[in-house]
Amino acid sequence: MTQTITVIRGDGIGPEIMEATLRVLDTMGLGLSYEFADAGLTALESQGELLPASTMDSIRRNRIALKSPLTTPVGEGFSSINVEMRKRFDLYANVRPAKSFPNTKSRFPSGIDLVTVRENTEGAYSAEGQQVSEDGETATSITRTTRRGSERIVRYAFELARRTGRRKVTVVHKANILKSTSGLFLKTARTVAQEYPDIECNEMIVDNCCMQLVMRPEQFDVIVTTNLFGDIISDLCAGLVGGLGLAPGANIGTDAAIFEAVHGTAPDIAGQGKANPCALLLAAAQMLDHMGKVDDAERLRRAIIATLEAKDSLTADLGGTGSTGTFADAIIRRL
Ligand code: ATP
Ligand code: MG
Repeated sequence: MTQTITVIRGDGIGPEIMEATLRVLDTMGLGLSYEFADAGLTALESQGELLPASTMDSIRRNRIALKSPLTTPVGEGFSSINVEMRKRFDLYANVRPAKSFPNTKSRFPSGIDLVTVRENTEGAYSAEGQQVSEDGETATSITRTTRRGSERIVRYAFELARRTGRRKVTVVHKANILKSTSGLFLKTARTVAQEYPDIECNEMIVDNCCMQLVMRPEQFDVIVTTNLFGDIISDLCAGLVGGLGLAPGANIGTDAAIFEAVHGTAPDIAGQGKANPCALLLAAAQMLDHMGKVDDAERLRRAIIATLEAKDSLTADLGGTGSTGTFADAIIRRL
């Protein structure tokens, strides 16, 4: 049975890394078909809109989108297309895997294989009640945490652990100080955890978690946490395994899920065949996991790892002399 996904080629290096990624996916015989849709600068130029209704409809219909980075031009209505998509589809879970890969500039070339699940809609980023006093001396904002919001993110983390064969979920919080908000998150997490006796659950205070991640990252499997902590921790984890070129991410809601590279449009190297396609390829692997094609996802990751190990046709950011296309070819040869 074929399954249709929405594909957004994006701006800057977007079209190059998407072309490479689709070529790799096509080799795998997954029965995927693609519905191409525009967003960002490309859409503004062709349809006069950054986020056309037809693109939103496509994602709504297919429920899954693979997306390249987008440019949000300044002064075009909203500050970020990515944030706008998150809001419109209520993409409450931001999911970022971090895995050690060979021959990268990482401090941890092996041993790390974790996923950060960040609550994406509330907490310190709810943008409510932002106020600065008239004299400019005092600023306040509201941190809103709900039981529903906490419950669905923690449940998502446990379900992900089950679906992908992971064994442990670490709940990261600061309930000792932020007694009401982080307290509610922790309390809710403890309740949800009881429904998953097959998955180990532990709790960690966020500051200790940061230290532990740097000292003994191999102890982590799935981390679930609130918006602000998750933002910081997921970047910390990307740094642990070698940075932007290898960092995928997903924004997941009840009705739609969007898979993407964490990096931006990289205009400095766009159109030159220099872009590393791995982050988007790893996002595609994450998408396959999400679709329940866990074996295919693993097969794709293994081919990427084998190519890195052999230093075959790697792009310049990884110290090689390959291009986006030859790197993809090298991965295809190993599938
Ligand atoms: P944007 O405004 O869209 O975020 P940016 O220039 O900030 O664009 P980033 O993606 O944040 O782009 O890139 C930061 C740096 O990392 C740039 O020098 C870019 O060339 C490099 N970079 C980003 N992604 C890749 C990639 N996939 N392959 C190689 N280099 C990359
Ligand atoms: Mg950037």
